[in-house]
Amino acid sequence: MALNWPRFKLAEDGSLALIKRLLAETGRRFAGRYALVIGLNLIVAASTAVNAWLVKDVINEIFFAKRVEMLYLLTVVVVAIGLIRGFGLYVSAVQLGRIGNAIIARVQQRLFHHMLNLGVDFYNRTASAELVTRMSHNAQGARKTLDTAVTGIGRDLLSVIALTIVMVIQSPTMSLIILVVGPIAVLGIAGLVRRVRGVARAQFSSLSMVVSDMQEAVRGIRVIKAFNMEGLMRERMEGSIDDLRARSDKIVRIGARSSPLMETLGGVAIAAIIFVAGYQAIYFEVQPGAMLSFIAAMAFAYDPAKRLARMQINLEVSLVGVRMMYELLDQKPSIETSDDAPDLELTDGTVVFDQVDFAYPGNQPLLQKFDFVAEGGAVTALVGPSGAGKSTIIALIERFFDIDDGRITVDGQNITGVRTSSLRDKVALVSQDVVLFRDTIRQNIRFGRPEASDAEIEQAARDALAHDFILATEHGYDTVLDEAAATLSGGERQRIAIARAMLRDAPVILLDEATSSLDSESEHQVQTAFDRLMRGRTTIVIAHRLSTVLGADKICVLVDGRIVEQGRHDQLIAADGQYARLYKIEFASRSADGQDGPEEEASVPAE
Ligand code: ADP
Repeated sequence: MALNWPRFKLAEDGSLALIKRLLAETGRRFAGRYALVIGLNLIVAASTAVNAWLVKDVINEIFFAKRVEMLYLLTVVVVAIGLIRGFGLYVSAVQLGRIGNAIIARVQQRLFHHMLNLGVDFYNRTASAELVTRMSHNAQGARKTLDTAVTGIGRDLLSVIALTIVMVIQSPTMSLIILVVGPIAVLGIAGLVRRVRGVARAQFSSLSMVVSDMQEAVRGIRVIKAFNMEGLMRERMEGSIDDLRARSDKIVRIGARSSPLMETLGGVAIAAIIFVAGYQAIYFEVQPGAMLSFIAAMAFAYDPAKRLARMQINLEVSLVGVRMMYELLDQKPSIETSDDAPDLELTDGTVVFDQVDFAYPGNQPLLQKFDFVAEGGAVTALVGPSGAGKSTIIALIERFFDIDDGRITVDGQNITGVRTSSLRDKVALVSQDVVLFRDTIRQNIRFGRPEASDAEIEQAARDALAHDFILATEHGYDTVLDEAAATLSGGERQRIAIARAMLRDAPVILLDEATSSLDSESEHQVQTAFDRLMRGRTTIVIAHRLSTVLGADKICVLVDGRIVEQGRHDQLIAADGQYARLYKIEFASRSADGQDGPEEEASVPAE
């Protein structure tokens, strides 16, 4: 599955701008809690500094001056500081964790909300595995970025500042050493940051590959088993996982390179300080309290300083998720849904294509000056070889894509001039691949019209000949359809979908008949259910069943995006053109299987 995610301008945006935006859009609502965390961290940083500061008194007052009261006092103070630190760290960790979870939840909702608003074309060019991966990865990215920034600044930076103050006070001369070493470390780290950014993005594509392979395997498990493809799939997955591992390793390697740098510089600094401190103690008999206090402060500052140095690298890794999140959020829906336009008003539901030009983005024109009429209340069947454009016509009526020229009207109203949701309210789509959601059967039917009562749902199921088999399932209407919905037969799934459309009671029905043949009993039931659904409604059907073409008020034969013939079945047969040929190949052969013949059509009860 190709990941052809378009690159956006934003990807080039600076990391700082990205963090600012994240803070403004997401971080701001947690400002109060962040302030608490930073406040607590301030206390923790201060207590660390006090600990370092006290070393001087411990050495000078207890060991040298041998003051007993100081021995007791300092012991108590150190325990108290430990308590305060522990408490502060606990509360701030809990707060940060909770803020983090809230951020993930918010980002996921925002992404999902936005994705639902994007057009069908977006889903055409985006692999579902990528979206699934984004949902968790990008949200984690936002969380980690804010976490890193807040703990980095709140805890580590404050600690380093407080400890630096102690160092400067205790020994201004030795502080100079730190001033030399610090900037060298910062420069070294900056070089690593750039490399991490590129690898982190590649790591994400590898991750979505793994998810994609997994999805494909689950969806295609029957084919995989039937063709003994397990070995092949294993190899493919291994390849994807190896890729992911290699890229993750690379990030680890680049990240870890900060350690040798920091350790070497740290070693040099400590050696220099010991030398200077020892020299002063030996030759100038300076009391060691202040020196040791300085060294303690430096030791305490070492870890937070290392974390600060790595912070930028960690930020870059998590910012990749944030960058991708904004790429998605900044995508505009390709179709203006015209929310403030008037509602579509239906009279008889006549659908007209008037000189329509349409091409899929980046493809050759499919429809050119295309005219087509589906009379209100009548059944119009679309037939033709695959790739002729039948599904496209249905998609255009639903306004999944906008046309390039001409107009599509329903009862004289241009579909681009009405509120899109009012258009889709009045049109029911029943497609070949029945989509059932993870919910009860009742709820699955109710999706047709959310405000419908249970009684109406059961009536719709009865009309769709679904009531009986639903009652025969384990919990009847309350049976939950999950992946186990695989236990429903193709015909049963179809009839649930038909019940959903029945319940919707839309005046216009768009139907894409299944090509896969059902056994004749369920074929018969599905057909009856369809007949009932179509009655009195404008129906545009991509026909695969003989009975559908026989019963259609008009058949349009579509070839390469053009209607080459239209009329009733008998007229077209008499004309002996494309339809007559197609009929022989496509439809007439089916009656020979006894699957769907004219005789059977005659036997469909008129209800
Ligand atoms: P039919 O339903 O008659 O089989 P379609 O309407 O599905 O035909 O397809 C018509 C043509 O448009 C085909 O050449 C197909 O490859 C192309 N096509 C269909 N859907 C898309 C899409 N989402 N993006 C690009 N091209 C498409």
